Amino acid sequence: MSAPFILLVNPWIYDFAAYDLWIRPLGLLSIASVLKKNGCGVHLIDCLDTHHPAMRTYADAGELQQREFGQGRFFKQNIPKPACLAGIPRNYSRYGMYTEVFQNELECLERPDAVLVGTMMTYWHPAVADCIKLIKNIFPDVPVLAGGVYASLCPDHAAACTGADYIVPGPFENSAVETLEAILHKQLQHIAADTVLRPECELLSSKKVLPLMTSRGCPLGCPYCASRLLSPSFQQREPLSVADEIEYWHVRYGTTDFAFYDDALLVHPEKHIVPLLESVIERGLPVRFHAPNGLHVRIIDERIACLMQRAGVKTLRLGLESADESLQKATGGKASRKEFTRAAESLQSAGYTEHEVGAYILAGLPGQCAQSVRSSISFVKDHGVRPYITEYSPIPGTDFWKKAVDCSPFPIEKEPLFHNNSLLPCRSASFTVDDLEALKRESRKT
Ligand code: SF4
Repeated sequence: MSAPFILLVNPWIYDFAAYDLWIRPLGLLSIASVLKKNGCGVHLIDCLDTHHPAMRTYADAGELQQREFGQGRFFKQNIPKPACLAGIPRNYSRYGMYTEVFQNELECLERPDAVLVGTMMTYWHPAVADCIKLIKNIFPDVPVLAGGVYASLCPDHAAACTGADYIVPGPFENSAVETLEAILHKQLQHIAADTVLRPECELLSSKKVLPLMTSRGCPLGCPYCASRLLSPSFQQREPLSVADEIEYWHVRYGTTDFAFYDDALLVHPEKHIVPLLESVIERGLPVRFHAPNGLHVRIIDERIACLMQRAGVKTLRLGLESADESLQKATGGKASRKEFTRAAESLQSAGYTEHEVGAYILAGLPGQCAQSVRSSISFVKDHGVRPYITEYSPIPGTDFWKKAVDCSPFPIEKEPLFHNNSLLPCRSASFTVDDLEALKRESRKT
């Protein structure tokens, strides 16, 4: 009997805006490593692949400029808005490869034994449904499983709306493995719950920039965040094995840039980030690192800032969220004003410039007023750090969900499309869409 063949699909993004900040289908790449260990054949179609050779033949491919470190824009086509978003005065687009390229990819494949579709934001669900529809057109009798973030946070909605045969919520590896065992009539090796998998990046078409996952979950429990729901326990990988992985990709493929996908990269620094960065420095690897997820501010002191600088950490985003002390307290106190000051000063004395260090500021939390965000922008700028506004997106199952349901003018409980942060889902008289636009302009002013 031949080895099972599993197709992995990372769907498009359908949204008002999307930007490639080193987005890679990490969940699918992790499950690919489990499947390969189990002797399965795997193939990935990444609809967000900006390096797909077939897309390069389109006239507009030249417009897709990558920025210095490999981040940049996606291919984009305007598409009709879902009916419930018709009143929103903005274009709505499909981001990623063109439909005909996806279809052609499917048609060229041998029939898989199963298809695993990864999902991300809850409000991108129409893209998942469209992907599955095309898969089903070509492989009508092949079971399709949907897992990942949306499938975990809204399993009933995903079961009703995506067309998938199986919804596999929770950590993708084991829930999908169990379902696959039943489909394939084959026993597969399960992964211990505390394992942080090394993703199977060989499947990516370009290896210039690769994702790194050195830990899973986060020990904090901010009330607006899904980290605990998606990864209930916090686990860190052995730092030297991460350094080996970095060296492997650099030597084998000349990879120059790595993006950390961790929610809590700096936690327990003495046994994690410090030995990791020291090992990278010792090996003399000419690589750069990017930390697009907010870093824990309170851990950054002069020593860590210096190590980050010497190891080549180029892009840093600090997870401040707010400089408003009452809001900091109400959201778990993950970073105080004093801790932010120390982190910003340490990074500057290590040689980081304003261009390299940014701080996330959350906007549009339930009950938040625009003035609170305005003060946070000033506070961040006063420290020589660049503010980045991140609009709040309500997430089912989080502590803030009920508050969000109560204050949102949109039916967010019924329709995940209204979780979209571009809509400012918890807008109010003291925080309007116009306020948000003004705050964004303010944050960009030098
Ligand atoms: S620190 Fe960051 S990842 Fe951890 S719970 Fe808070 S927002 Fe989530």
